[in-house]
Amino acid sequence: MASGCLYAILGTAPEASHQELKSCYQKAILQCHPDKLPQTCSEAEQAAAMQRFHLVDTAWRTLSDDASRREYDARQKENMRKPLPLNEKVHLDDMDWQEDEEMYTYSCRCGGEYVMTDSDIEQNILIISCNTCTLSIELVMEDTLKSGRTFLQTDDVHITP
Ligand SMILES: [Zn+2]
Repeated sequence: MASGCLYAILGTAPEASHQELKSCYQKAILQCHPDKLPQTCSEAEQAAAMQRFHLVDTAWRTLSDDASRREYDARQKENMRKPLPLNEKVHLDDMDWQEDEEMYTYSCRCGGEYVMTDSDIEQNILIISCNTCTLSIELVMEDTLKSGRTFLQTDDVHITP
């Protein structure tokens, strides 16, 4: 599963006020709410939306509470000091496209897998964590653009890295 900071999940910045967080949360949750999905969307799209729904919900629950937000901010600062254990940089073309599940996978040296969905890419989540160990890979995007696969542009989502 891709990792992203909780502020990025809500599409806002760490400096955001409680009020800003709240409006970003309401906007983000509407975009992936199970009741708001088009009838025509595939099972994979539904699963991706559900995953996102839980991420947004978790982010909001952590950040809406002053004490847990402070705790999270402190932990983030701590994490920034030590770099992510980045395994390698990977081009999207190097990943395996799983037709059935509509997602990209890439084998980790531990035997686990990195999994990337189109919705992760749309959200600009480019650091992917292994599903079994603590390693991450970084997706290199410029080659993706050249590969000809196009992704939906979500103009109304502003992700701050
Ligand atoms: Zn691994």
